[in-house]
Amino acid sequence: MGLKLYNSLTRMKEEFKPLEEGRVGIYVCGPTVYGHPHLGHAKSYVSFDILVRYLRYLGYSVTYVQNITDVGHLTDDADEGEDKLVVAAKKEKKHPMALAEYYTRSYFEDMDRLNCHRPDISPRATGHIIEQIELVKILLEKGYAYEVNGSVYFEVAKFPDYGKLSRRNLDEMLEGVRVEVSPDKKAPADFALWKKAEPNHIMQWPSPWGPGFPGWHLECSVMSMKYLGKTIDIHGGGLENQFPHHDCEIAQSEAANGVQFVRFWMHNNMITVDNQKMGKSLNNFITLKQAFAGAHERLTRSYDPLAVRQLILNSHYRSPLDFSDAALFAAQSGYQKITETVKAVRKRMSTAGQGQADKKKANQLKKMREKFEAAMNDDLNTSVALSVLFELVRLTQVLLQDGNTNVGTLNLVDVLFDRLGGDVLGIVKDEYPQAGAADDKVVDKLVDIVIQQRNQARANKDFAKADEFRARLDEIGIVLEDKQDVTTWRNK
Ligand SMILES: [Zn+2]
Repeated sequence: MGLKLYNSLTRMKEEFKPLEEGRVGIYVCGPTVYGHPHLGHAKSYVSFDILVRYLRYLGYSVTYVQNITDVGHLTDDADEGEDKLVVAAKKEKKHPMALAEYYTRSYFEDMDRLNCHRPDISPRATGHIIEQIELVKILLEKGYAYEVNGSVYFEVAKFPDYGKLSRRNLDEMLEGVRVEVSPDKKAPADFALWKKAEPNHIMQWPSPWGPGFPGWHLECSVMSMKYLGKTIDIHGGGLENQFPHHDCEIAQSEAANGVQFVRFWMHNNMITVDNQKMGKSLNNFITLKQAFAGAHERLTRSYDPLAVRQLILNSHYRSPLDFSDAALFAAQSGYQKITETVKAVRKRMSTAGQGQADKKKANQLKKMREKFEAAMNDDLNTSVALSVLFELVRLTQVLLQDGNTNVGTLNLVDVLFDRLGGDVLGIVKDEYPQAGAADDKVVDKLVDIVIQQRNQARANKDFAKADEFRARLDEIGIVLEDKQDVTTWRNK
């Protein structure tokens, strides 16, 4: 059975075949960089990281494009309100570009800690203004758009397929339009391709229609086309972006190019925190930095970033996921169990003898791999895949308890941990720090404490005790040197 993915466009699981054999192009809507990434970002980008990792595991050459939105995303999706970046920049007293840079770095930092592979290309919207203006020109020439008072709008009535992804009718589309509709629009559902900037607007560029800035949806059409072509294999994003964002992308791209824009649309579901929608007003808005450090009143402890990753993998990407301290704690325990088992099997391998793999065990392991792949082939069912990894943990623990030293069998186990837990799920690392290895600063501090104790003993004329401190340190390779009143130390 080959890989099947749920296509939001057809609302069916379909067998995945790329346009060009062996190569896959993926575009995923990236973050709008005006704040630190939160748990919702983790759910979305871990889900698409799994997709990319699994396609690579299957042998595809994948080009993964994920944009950075640093202009044009307004506080209201219906073309009104202020630019989110400008609002945050004013608050933080930074230039919008400094703010974008700061939060872009923060985003990559947290995604690295979640062990998400970096996209191959991370294009910025502000770096593609020329291309965006070009697309607006094409849409005007083809009669899909109109200019009024320095702004350009897409005329929805000219594109009968508008809304085919979200399958909304016109009334439903307008439900989302909360603010007053601009009098410039011919119809309320029309959306902005280019917005006129007021003279004091900080982010603006010259254009054939006067100074302005691009509409939010435009960047994704332009950047996916530039890097992946007019028809792309897979486009991903959050469910909340299906409308209007993705339906607008389809309208712009297909009107301009006259060919299908995306073959597979994939959407991840949202997260809740303690069964409530995450929101600043509910005090359940948790950034990843807070989750890792345990620095939020809803959390009782700090969490390993890979425990957060594991919690996300516990549920299907199309299902909502509830974050809670208890759920994270359970995920962390599971993660530790996997980690300890991998470390133990690797340690055993270093002392194991010769030997071909045990046939029965090899067969059992082969079946596990097949089960894992079947789960992943079924629209990336990571929770079943993860349960197979735990079967592997149990089998390994039995092997270790039985004192198995057959290097052939142990090697097969390690390969499975590495390929399934590491390459695909991203929760098994290549290397773990050695148990007991403290970092240098901690060693410095500990030796200082011992030196202080020894000085105290000498001050009390308890020379036997002082000598004992010196001897004990000497045993672990640390030599004390007394010069005048100062004691220093060095490694033997
Ligand atoms: Zn997008």
